[in-house]
Formats: sequence, C-alpha cells, structure tokens
Amino acid sequence: MTDIKSLTLPELQAEMERLGDKKFRAGQIYQWLHEKLADEFDEMSSLPKSLRERLKEEYELVRLETVQVQQSKQDGTCKFLFRLPDGHVIESVLMKYHHGNSVCISSQVGCRMGCRFCASTLGGLERGLRPSEMLDQIYQIQKWSGERVHNVVVMGTGEPLDNYDALLRFLRLLTGEGGLHISQRNVTVSTCGIVPRIRQLAEETLQITLALSLHASSQEKRKSLMPVANQYELAGVIDACRYYFEKTGRRITFEYSLVGGINDTDEDAAELIRLVKPLNCHINLIPVNPIKERDYVQTERRKVVDFKNKLEKSGINVSIRRELGRDIDGACGQLRRSYMDQER
Ligand code: SAH
Repeated sequence: MTDIKSLTLPELQAEMERLGDKKFRAGQIYQWLHEKLADEFDEMSSLPKSLRERLKEEYELVRLETVQVQQSKQDGTCKFLFRLPDGHVIESVLMKYHHGNSVCISSQVGCRMGCRFCASTLGGLERGLRPSEMLDQIYQIQKWSGERVHNVVVMGTGEPLDNYDALLRFLRLLTGEGGLHISQRNVTVSTCGIVPRIRQLAEETLQITLALSLHASSQEKRKSLMPVANQYELAGVIDACRYYFEKTGRRITFEYSLVGGINDTDEDAAELIRLVKPLNCHINLIPVNPIKERDYVQTERRKVVDFKNKLEKSGINVSIRRELGRDIDGACGQLRRSYMDQER
C-alpha cells in the first residue's frame, strides 16, 4: 500500500485523478495529514464517507505509537520512544528553549557509521526511515505537548545523508506550504561527513543549516574516533563545507564532542583554530556523554571552558552546548538501547 503521508501535494492530486475523484480533495487530505495532524482517515470529516473508505483500502496512514515518554526533572527535556508500523523502536527528543520548542528526530533505525563514542551505532543499521516516519515524530510530539514546534534538528539516531532521498522529501514536506511550514532556517541536518552527499545537498537550494560532526582537527585523530574518516579525508570534508556555504550562504555549524585526553589538549585547540579559521562557521562544544559500552570520559569542566576561551580569543564563534536530559538517557541512542535490553 502507498504511504500517503510521504506524498507531496502534486502526487496526491495525481492519486485523486487515478481514483476518479476531484482534484481539490487532494488539498483537503494534505491539510488533514500535515496541518491538522490526523491519525486516522475517519478523522477527516470534510471528506465524504465513501472517499474515506476508499482511502483506507488503498493507502497506509503511518502513525507512530508512543511507547514511553521520559521527562527530565532538571530541565524539562522530554525523550520519546516511538514504535514504527513494522515494530522497530526509535527515539526523539523535545527540548524547550526560550526561543521556542526544538525537536530532535531520528533518521534511521540504528546506524552503520560506527562512531566510537556513539550508542546509536552499536547494533548496526536496520533500515532508513521513510519521510512519513520522520514527520510523524514531530507531529506526535506537537500533539502531545499541545505547543507548536519551532525548530527541528535531524541529530537523533542515524546518518541523515545515508538516507538521502527520504531526507530530502521529508525536508520539503516539513518546510513546504500547507503543512507545519517550518522555516528552513529553523531546520538543522547533522552529518558525520559524507562528502558527495554534502555537495549534493548544497545544490538543492535549501536554506537549512548543515551541522558537521568534526570531533577532531587532524585526519589521524578523526579516523580513530570516526570510521567514516577512512573514506573521506578531513581536507575533503572541509572543502565540502566551504562549498555548502558558497552555494547556500548558510554558516556551517561544527560539532565537537570533547573526549577527555583524546581531543581536548592545547594542541588540539590550536589545530582546530587553524582548520576552521578560514571558514564562516560556528562551533558547538559538547562534553562527550559517556556510554557504558565504551570507556571514554568527559573533559573536566575547567578544561572545557579553557578550550572555549582559546577558540573565542582567535575570533571563532563558539558555544558550549548545555547537556539537556542527562538524567533521562539523553545521549544519542541510549534510551532505545536500554529499552531493547529490557525487552530481551
Ligand atoms: N549521524 C549524524 C547525526 C546523528 S549524531 C552525525 O554524525 O552528525 C548527532 C551528534 O551527536 C553528532 O555530532 C554525534 O557525533 C554526537 N554524539 C553521538 N554520541 C555522542 C556522545 N556519546 N557524546 C557526545 N556527542 C555524541
């Protein structure tokens, strides 16, 4: 059955034609799906009953089942565990900021990138998410909270650029007219650095922010933390980022997770400055979230601030990311893993 929530409006119009129905019905259905966030065809009360029955026979309406919601007592961050139609579970996060609500979504079930400090990749990749499955994380969270979602970050489990076509369709449905219509400038896609896909994304004429998971300032160090670096050299990654900025005018965000004794020395800071200085960028420093499967430790707070000051002094935009939701398995993939452990 066709996944109706992944269809664009023109595609839905073509479907109505195929069913021998009126074209304007497509607009109504699209609005029910993407603006009123209907979970069932039966909620679509402006459609004739006969059409609703026909839709039930012909289309799959993807709706994620909320398995668990954990709310942080420290900062109100909520972590959601959702079950997909095929039984897999994924996680998403709602973060409340002064400037609005942000949702962090997963793009794949598991991940095959193998970053050493990340819990999402430990069980490998199951599959990529469909556009509807990415959208519905946001839709269900918006309905649950009763508040509008302002920002979306594709920074949960999975490598979004390893699920490229579905990601692009998702982005167009999310930011296009007639749906939630979230501004492209309020959407961030985070990648471990798949160079050809970054270049391809630069050509799509989108205004989204690209976040690049850097985590090291030399090719050798990066290779030891991120296997993807075996495939794409650091210099090529930086070039692709420069290209993204040239094409889109959007400043790159570099994610740098500080790992105690591994990438947090003075020399690391100096090398990082040399590497990113020529670019128009922003650096997010994130104290690594230790996972029980690995023995990486966090950089001490004092050293984190030191590292930040060094970058700042040389004129680089930098912030230390607050670690939201530490008390609720906040790190990438931790909640899903502990849930699956329990199930086993
Ligand atoms: N695959 C994409 C998006 C998902 S990961 C990417 O690599 O960017 C989102 C961010 O969290 C990445 O920067 C990733 O390196 C980082 N991350 C993953 N596990 C982490 C951990 N345990 N501590 C700190 N950052 C982590």
